[in-house]
Amino acid sequence: MSTVLIIGAGGVGNVTAHKCAQVPEVFSDIWLASRTLEKCGRIKESVRARTGREIRTAQLDARNTADVAKLIRQTGAKLVIHVALPYENLTIMDACLEAGADYLDTANYEPPDFPTYSYSWQWPYDEPFKEKGVMGLLGSGFDPGVTNVYCAYAHKIHFDEIHYVDIVDCNAGDHGQHFATNFNSEINIREITQKGRYYEDGEWKVTEPLAVKQTFDFPGIGPREACLMYHEEMESLVHHIKGLKRMRFWMTFSENYLTHLRVLENVGMTRIDPVLYEGHPVIPLRFLTQVLPQPASLGENYEGMTCIGCIFEGVKDGKPKKLFIYNNCHHKETYEEVGSQAVSYTTGVPAMIGAKLMLTGVWRAPGVFNMEQFDPEPFMEDLNTYGLPWREKEL
Ligand code: NDP
Repeated sequence: MSTVLIIGAGGVGNVTAHKCAQVPEVFSDIWLASRTLEKCGRIKESVRARTGREIRTAQLDARNTADVAKLIRQTGAKLVIHVALPYENLTIMDACLEAGADYLDTANYEPPDFPTYSYSWQWPYDEPFKEKGVMGLLGSGFDPGVTNVYCAYAHKIHFDEIHYVDIVDCNAGDHGQHFATNFNSEINIREITQKGRYYEDGEWKVTEPLAVKQTFDFPGIGPREACLMYHEEMESLVHHIKGLKRMRFWMTFSENYLTHLRVLENVGMTRIDPVLYEGHPVIPLRFLTQVLPQPASLGENYEGMTCIGCIFEGVKDGKPKKLFIYNNCHHKETYEEVGSQAVSYTTGVPAMIGAKLMLTGVWRAPGVFNMEQFDPEPFMEDLNTYGLPWREKEL
């Protein structure tokens, strides 16, 4: 029986709040805090209507460590689930240290003026977290998150050595909008416009943004072309997979999405440096984010499904083996269940499961951890129980 504080009332925050409310035996008291209080209120009403539970809400700017620490103390939260933006990771981790609460997030820290994807800012919290006796779980979404757990599970159950891993992420859904991103637009576009990077033979190789493409056959969807990108889970996974020779990350995009993105880039709307507009500094990408549909608004009428998983090649009992572990998630079903599209759902459910395992002591140790550092089996079981069942396919 524990109090949890969820920070961020967007698409992912909505799912996390509903899923925590579905597990009252662990999450006995739920607080939801975010920058815009009305968004917390809408989620509170939906949680009440769907689960009959009352959650409590608060206004909070998570960039202010003292305010976050004060709210942790006021609420008595044992754990903070951070599903706001990656700019706030460090202030919230500092607040957890100050107030003595555990910490969980779904994306690594990003400096606002320098898009970069690295755990190098958060891993150094390991010592202070150990000293304080609190735990931080990094990247408990789907990718990062479930993909790390799939790797740990493949390693534990299916392979003696894993040589090649391709993480593949396909959203074959249609939300009916001309252009929208499935999670926070600013964070999404910053990530997608970066150079690609993959790991091979002990080093990182760099490619031009979205320049390398390959077709994969996605179960339930069919063949789709995907683009090679850098993705943060690879940074920790390359340290933890025995025998690894190559790891890559692939994501599909529709032609329509890529065309819009190209135009927005060409006209300067994805810039993250301030531009003076009528005497006021304006960051074009932030302004664009305000005019695009919000991820939380995309659920209604969203058709189709996602398929995210890992393709492994390696050796078991001296024989070569190739295996795909994946999940299919339907936008319509997640909308019916919690009022959110599948991309928010596939992130919010693992956030709840990570929190559940921490609060029940199944995954608990002082310090800062990535997902693959714990026993994957309880997490894999919970994925089946709480809405993200996985399948295995020998290739
Ligand atoms: P949204 O934009 O829908 O929601 C973000 C929420 O955070 C908004 O309610 C926003 O408030 C709030 N927020 C932003 N800044 C602050 C702040 N300083 N203090 C308090 N609240 C703040 O994004 P999503 O829900 O789609 O994504 C949330 C997170 O999940 C992102 O970090 C994203 O990277 C991560 N993610 C991870 C995935 C994974 O698989 N690991 C996949 C998808 C997303 P306001 O409305 O006032 O702006």
